[in-house]
Amino acid sequence: MNPASPADYRAIAAGLSFEGRAFIGGSFVPAVTGAVMETVNPANGEAFATVASSQAADIDNAVAAARSAFRNGAWSRAAPERRKAVLLRLADLIRANAAELAVLESLDSGKPIRDCLKEIGIEVPDTLQWYGELIDKAFGKVAPTGEDSLALITRESIGVVGLVLPWNFPLLMAAWKLGPALASGCSVVVKPAEQTSLSVLRLAELAVEAGLPDGVLNVVPGYGETAGRALGLHPDVDAISFTGSTEVGRLFLRYAADSNLKSIGLEMGGKSPFIVLDDAELTAELIENAVTAAFWNGGQNCSANMRQIVARSRQEEFLSLVAAKAASLVVGDPLDPETELGPMISAEHRARVLGFVEKGQNDGARCVLASDTAHATRPGSFLGPTVFADLSPSMTIAREEIFGPVLGVLPVDGLDEALAIANDSAYGLHATVFTRDIDRALFMSRRLTCGTVAINGFTEGDIKTPFGGYRQSGSLARDKGTEALAQYLQTKTSWINLKAPALG
Ligand code: NAD
Repeated sequence: MNPASPADYRAIAAGLSFEGRAFIGGSFVPAVTGAVMETVNPANGEAFATVASSQAADIDNAVAAARSAFRNGAWSRAAPERRKAVLLRLADLIRANAAELAVLESLDSGKPIRDCLKEIGIEVPDTLQWYGELIDKAFGKVAPTGEDSLALITRESIGVVGLVLPWNFPLLMAAWKLGPALASGCSVVVKPAEQTSLSVLRLAELAVEAGLPDGVLNVVPGYGETAGRALGLHPDVDAISFTGSTEVGRLFLRYAADSNLKSIGLEMGGKSPFIVLDDAELTAELIENAVTAAFWNGGQNCSANMRQIVARSRQEEFLSLVAAKAASLVVGDPLDPETELGPMISAEHRARVLGFVEKGQNDGARCVLASDTAHATRPGSFLGPTVFADLSPSMTIAREEIFGPVLGVLPVDGLDEALAIANDSAYGLHATVFTRDIDRALFMSRRLTCGTVAINGFTEGDIKTPFGGYRQSGSLARDKGTEALAQYLQTKTSWINLKAPALG
C-alpha cells in the first residue's frame, strides 16, 4: 500500500490498536504494580492510549530475562550468519509495516508523516540491514609474535545492554542502537522516552516474528526518574547506550559510579553552527539547507543548526531569503503529507521554547520572523518558525539548546571570528559550512571542534559514518558506522604458548 492523502493516513490511524504493555521475555506484560501513564497526541493534546509505567520490579524482570537469554546462548553464541538472517528479516518486516508504524509514530510524537515514512520506511530498516550484513565480516586480529606463541585478539558481546531513547526520533534512535547491539549478540532492555513508546513496542513484536529468541529484546516503557533510573543503577546491566539531554547523560555517569561501573555511551545535546562564508553564493539550495538545518522536526533535533553564523556583508540578504523560506513552511496536521512542521512534543515544551523567544527579545535580538499567532489558538502544541538577527555570542539564545523552531543569525567579519564563535560552546555535535573555496572548507573542517562537519549541505552523514559529539555533546561512544560496535563489544586477548613439536 502506498497511501498519499491525509484521509488514507487517518484511515490507518482509525484501524490501529495500541499495545502499551511492557515487552519482557517475549510477551507483553502489564507493569507489576499495574501502573500506567497516558500517551498524548501532541497535534490535539488528547490522550489516546495508556502505556505501562515500569518500576524497579519491572526493570528487574526485564534484566533477568535479558541475562537468561544472554546465558542460554541462542542469540549471543549464534553464528553471525544466523544473526544476520534475523536482522534482515526484521528489516523486511519493518518495510512491509512501514505505513502503520509511521502513522503510530506520527500520532505519538507529532512528527510529520512525510518524515516518519522516510525514517521508518527507509532509514530504520536500512540501518538494521547494514549491521546485519556487517557482522559476518567483522574479523578479529592476530598479533605479531614469535613462533613460540599465538596471540588472538577477539571481540565478544558485552552482555546485557540498556538502550535509553529520546522522543524526537523514537524508532530511528532505537535502530541506531539495536542494529549494532543485536548484531553483536547482546541482549537488550530498551527504555523508550515516556512520550513515545508505541512504535518501539510494535517493533519488539516484529522482532519476535523475525525469529529473535525470547528475552533478547525487552522494552520497558516508563518515566525517566523511575524506569530510566532503575536501569541506570541496575547491578546486572553491563552497558548503557543513552541518547538524550546532557543533564540526564550526566545522571547516567553517576548511576554507573553508584552501581557496577557499567560502561556508558552518551549522545547528548547540541548548539550547532551553520556557517556562511562571504564567498558562498546565496542560492536557493543554500537557503533551503539553512531552513532545514534549523527547522527540520520543528527544531527538535540534537544536530539542529540554530546558530547561523553569516558574513556580515551577507546578513541582510541571507535574512530576507531565510525568513521568506521559513514563513512558507507548512505547519499543520502531522498526518497530512504536505505538512512540514508538526507540533512541539508537548504543551510544556512549547512553553519552554516560547520562554527562549521572550528571552531573545528581552536581550535585544532583532526579530525578523515571528511565529504566526494563529498557532497559539489551535488545539495541540503548534509553534511556527521564529528568525532572530543580530545575536551576540553571549546571549542565552545563542548559547543554550532551545530544541524548537528558533533560528538566530550572528553576523561575523571574517573566518577567524566565525571559527571562534562556532567553537565557543559547551557542545560540539555538528557544524555546517558553506563556501566555494576548497582550502577554506578543509581549514574549517579541521578546526571546528565537533563530531560531524557538513560542507556545502546540511547532513548527518549516512549509516556508514559515525555520529557523536565532542565536549558535552557526547562521550567517546559513537552511533552509526562500524564505530558503533565498540559500545556493544569488548576486546579479549588469548595468548597461547606453543612448543615446537618433535620432528620426524
Ligand atoms: P531526556 O534526557 O529528557 O530523556 C532521554 C531519556 O532519558 C528518556 O528515555 C527519559 O525517560 C530518560 N530520563 C529522563 N530523566 C531521567 C532520569 N532522571 N534518570 C534516567 N533516565 C531519565 O531527553 P529528551 O527530552 O527525550 O530528548 C531531547 C534531548 O536529546 C536533547 O537534548 C537532544 O539534543 C538530545 N538528542 C541527542 C541526540 C544525539 O544523537 N546526540 C539525538 C536525539 C536527541
